[in-house]
Formats: sequence, structure tokens, C-alpha cells
Amino acid sequence: MAPRNPDIIVIGGGIAGCAAAYYLSKEGASVALFEKDAVASHASGFAFGGILTRGGVGEGHPLHGLSIAADRLHTSLEKSLIDESGVDPEYVKRAAVFLAMSEADAQSSRAAYEQHLRSPAMGQADLRWLGRGELSHVEARIGPKILGGLYDGEAHEVEPYKLTLGLWQAAERRGARLVNRAVTGITRTGGKVTGVQAGAEKFSAGAVVIANGPWASEAGAWLGVPIPITPLKGQILRLQAPEPPMTVSFWWGGDYAASKPDGLLWAGTTEEYSGFDEGTTAAARDKITGSLIEALPYLRDARLVKQTACLRPLSADRLPIIGCVPGIDGAVVVTGAGRNGIELGPAMGRAAADIALGRTPDFDVSALGLDRFQPDSHR
Ligand SMILES: Cc1cc2nc3c(=O)[nH]c(=O)nc-3n(C[C@H](O)[C@H](O)[C@H](O)COP(=O)(O)OP(=O)(O)OC[C@H]3O[C@@H](n4cnc5c(N)ncnc54)[C@H](O)[C@@H]3O)c2cc1C
Repeated sequence: MAPRNPDIIVIGGGIAGCAAAYYLSKEGASVALFEKDAVASHASGFAFGGILTRGGVGEGHPLHGLSIAADRLHTSLEKSLIDESGVDPEYVKRAAVFLAMSEADAQSSRAAYEQHLRSPAMGQADLRWLGRGELSHVEARIGPKILGGLYDGEAHEVEPYKLTLGLWQAAERRGARLVNRAVTGITRTGGKVTGVQAGAEKFSAGAVVIANGPWASEAGAWLGVPIPITPLKGQILRLQAPEPPMTVSFWWGGDYAASKPDGLLWAGTTEEYSGFDEGTTAAARDKITGSLIEALPYLRDARLVKQTACLRPLSADRLPIIGCVPGIDGAVVVTGAGRNGIELGPAMGRAAADIALGRTPDFDVSALGLDRFQPDSHR
């Protein structure tokens, strides 16, 4: 049952919505989370779970503040979420190696390493360039095309489904309520949000957080304010791989592979513009397998156990959207994390919670507002 008049309604039970609900309920707000399917049943439950950016992206980048906050909040969730929710999000510190398969890749990895050495965030990072010889001591089964790799010793991984579920269950323990309904509209009086509509039924609230991932453009249509989000499908294979498991995760050209705590090796991925179709395809399986075998030929003998597909919310400029809906009091949008929603999700939810409560987040998300897409925006 929904509280009839929660302070705040959150639309969408992915990581963005569950993190918003988590931080709102921590602040004592009464929250109702509307989810059309089940918590973490879309991208937030089927992502790869890589958390790569330690110390954040560089100063001046629109994601600078958000990425530093994400790092801080993951550190805190790693300590507290299991006690707050009863769910272990399975954070593991596992080095990531960004493979170079061409001289151009190797040069850009070395340049990234050198730039990182000069950056103030270096204190938190353990980045090193490893030539092929050094890298083969880390993993002897690398393919012949690999020239070396950028080794990030501070990378983490998390189980995305459990992190999202944990955020939700912690919110629920503080009184947040799940409403298993599809929102079909946002109600308003004048320029002020009054709640949401689910079919014929109306639910009142003082503010509404739009966190429905790739479906956020629908909410834009309800409000008459475009939210420029499209679904970007990605697929992952889970494989029974020859022993022993890999001790690091590998990343190359948009693809990746790691041995996971479930005993399987996960490998991805694709970037497909195919609307809201969430089905798996043989073409994706072949594309991922081909790329994987090129990087790690020993996986030719791996057996496919499971293939998953889901939709990333991608904004028009590939950056998240966090902020008020211009001209509509009480409507906050938080979506568009694309390929980085598990990494950025807690910080996105924290910022959305602050904005919904009428506060300014304590990290800078001002470059990420929906207003940047307004025709008269002069950013
Ligand atoms: C293959 C793949 C691998 C990935 N790997 C990583 C990774 O390693 N690291 C990383 O940081 N990120 C990764 N991501 C990205 C990450 O998964 C997404 O950015 C993130 O999960 C998006 O979260 P979200 O809450 O915005 O959306 P979603 O998880 O899609 O949640 C939105 C929710 O809203 C609900 N909803 C929609 N419309 C309504 C409505 N009208 N009423 C009620 N509910 C509604 C949906 O049912 C859904 O549950 C990966 C994504 C994919 C596809």
C-alpha cells in the first residue's frame, strides 16, 4: 500500500530511483516508490558492475563533482549497506586492466597514465602502464595482439542487483513504500506538481522524482518538457570458463570480461539502438564471443550459461540529467547515466534527493541540469 500523501513520489525502481529513495528516507522524508515491474528488474539488475573512477574525473569536466561524490558514497555504502538493509552488495576490490591492442591504444594509455601522474587525484590511484611482458605475469592467457595494458589497482566491482535491492530495502526499513504500478501521468495545479496518476487512480505528493531510466522521455511527454533520453541496449554473456578464474577484470574497445563471485565469467557488450526491445540476439552473442576470444583466446572453450540484455538510459549528450524540470515546481529528473549508472547511481540519487527536498547538493551538478537542452540555454 502507498502512503496516500507521501512527501515525495519516486518513479522507477532502478539504481537512480532506489538511491533517491534511500537518501530521502535517511533525511526523514516519507517516500513512495512506483515501479511498473520489480525493483532492479531492468539495467540496474543486469549490469556488469564495474566501478572504475577513483578520485573522480578531471577538474573542469561536467562529471567532476558527481564522480568524486560517487567514489565517496560507494565507500560509505560498502561499509554500511549490509547492516542497513540485510543485503550484501558484494563490493570487491579487483584491479582493472585496459588492454592495448594497437600502437595507438598503447600510446593513449601511456598518455592517460602520464596525465594521471600530474593530476591531484593521484593520491588515491594506483595506475600503472604494464608492457606485454609484465602483463603476462598478471594473466598469462592474453591474446597475441595485446601490447600491454593500463593497470588500475583501485578499481572495484559490485553486484548491481544486490546494490540496488540493498538501497531499496534500507529505504523500506525507514518507512518507504513500494507501489507496484506503472505511472501514467504527473498531476499538476498550475505550475506545481501535485502527484502522479496510475491508470484511473491519483496519488498526491509534494514532489515527484522522475527516475524511470530509458523510459524518462515518457515523463517528459506528460509534462510537455522534452527529456532527451533514448534506450541503448547492451548484452552480456555469462560463461563457464576454464580454470583458474581471472584475478583482474579486462577492458578493451568498449568490451570487458571478469570472473565473478557467482563462479561464472561475465563478458560484454554491445551498444544497440533498437528501441525498447530487451531481447537477446545471436548476433550479439557472436560479436561478444569474437571480441572475447581475440583478447583471451583460452575462452574459446568456455560454455555459455546465460545471456542477458537490457537498456541503458542515454541522454542526447551522453551525460546524466539531474535537476529540476524547468518551469514545473516539484518535478525533479535523475536519469541518463548511460554506461556508468552503477558507478554514478548513488551520487545521482543523493543529488536528486537534495534537490527534491529544496536543498543544493554538496557537490556540483549544475552542469547536468535538464535546462542545458532548452533551446535558449547559453551554456
Ligand atoms: C550490459 C550493461 C552493462 C552495464 N555495466 C555497467 C557497469 O559495469 N558499470 C556501470 O556503472 N554501469 C553499467 N551499466 C549501466 C547501468 O546499468 C545503467 O546506467 C543504470 O542501471 C540505469 O539505472 P536507472 O535507474 O536510471 O534505470 P533502470 O535500471 O532502467 O530503472 C528504471 C526503472 O523504472 C521503471 N519504470 C519505467 N517506467 C515506469 C513507469 N511509468 N512507472 C513506474 N516505473 C517505471 C522500470 O521498470 C525500471 O525498473 C550497464 C548497462 C548495461 C545494459
